[in-house]
Amino acid sequence: EEGRKKERKEMLYEKEMIDLFRREEILLKEMREAIEKKDQSTLYLAFQPILSGNGEEVVAFEALARMNSQSFGPVSPMEFIEVAEKNQLIQRLSDCILDCALDFMKELRRQGKSHLRVAVNVSGYQLLKEDFSESLLRRLKSEGIRPQMLEVEITESVLLENFQHLNDKLKKLRGSGVRVALDDFGTGYSSFMRLQELHLDTIKIDQAFIRRIKNEKEETLVSDMIQMAHRLKLQVVAEGVEEEHQRKNLIHFGCDALQGYYYAKPLTPEEALLFADRFKEAKDFFG
Ligand code: C2E
Ligand code: MG
Ligand code: MG
Ligand code: MG
Repeated sequence: EEGRKKERKEMLYEKEMIDLFRREEILLKEMREAIEKKDQSTLYLAFQPILSGNGEEVVAFEALARMNSQSFGPVSPMEFIEVAEKNQLIQRLSDCILDCALDFMKELRRQGKSHLRVAVNVSGYQLLKEDFSESLLRRLKSEGIRPQMLEVEITESVLLENFQHLNDKLKKLRGSGVRVALDDFGTGYSSFMRLQELHLDTIKIDQAFIRRIKNEKEETLVSDMIQMAHRLKLQVVAEGVEEEHQRKNLIHFGCDALQGYYYAKPLTPEEALLFADRFKEAKDFFG
């Protein structure tokens, strides 16, 4: 009896493994096809507005990768980006993401909105590639986009290894005008010492901290993070702002920019452009 149970358990486990493996295979196949055919209904970007610290104007958009799988429906970028990284597809996927971001930037420019930045998430694998900054700058140049319009978001985990090497790359990027943001700040391992050495413009405080803005202790923590960043001449973006009391507190703490469902979810390019217009109009209207 016990033996049979164990056997069944193992079979179930095996089945789950096969399902997972097949899911990965299918996702990979669909991604390859979508990239090949430039199929923007399967792989595309959503753009989430980032508002100025007073919450009065749009200052940037974060480009977030989206996959709508024929077999599984919407798939989280956490999942499909990892699948792409594991299977040597990340380079091509990243190129495709950059193409899409550049199209959006060109549309912004066409509409006289070149002052709005676009932030693109960059994975460790990409950053480690030998000619990452060179090819990025080449792309911007050939599209006629000012580097100042682009921000790259990197995560702390990337910096655990090859710190010096990566930091040199960041220095080069910033030297040519591209802005650099440290994403999910507070969830990784970087010490304040490291923060001081890093070639950064911005830190993005992870939504886990913003969610905890309820009691006074946590409010002090976020406020201290903001003060510390300002002392290091860094700008601060708060991620995952959902509630009015979070927004109010963050503005009171002097946070430079706010992002979250309170203002807008990640939008289609068309919606994002409209949002930028409407927000300005609304502000002009209400004085
Ligand atoms: P991230 O860069 O920290 O992106 C922020 C995530 O928070 C996004 O999830 C966004 O949709 C979500 N978010 C924004 N506002 C709110 C809010 O008010 N409440 C809540 N609960 N969530 C909010 P998403 O789009 O699922 O992306 C997850 C992660 O996947 C990203 O985290 C980023 O690490 C990665 N990712 C997304 N797009 C790309 C990409 O193009 N390249 C790379 N390498 N990674 C990407
Ligand atoms: Mg990000
Ligand atoms: Mg983040
Ligand atoms: Mg994240």
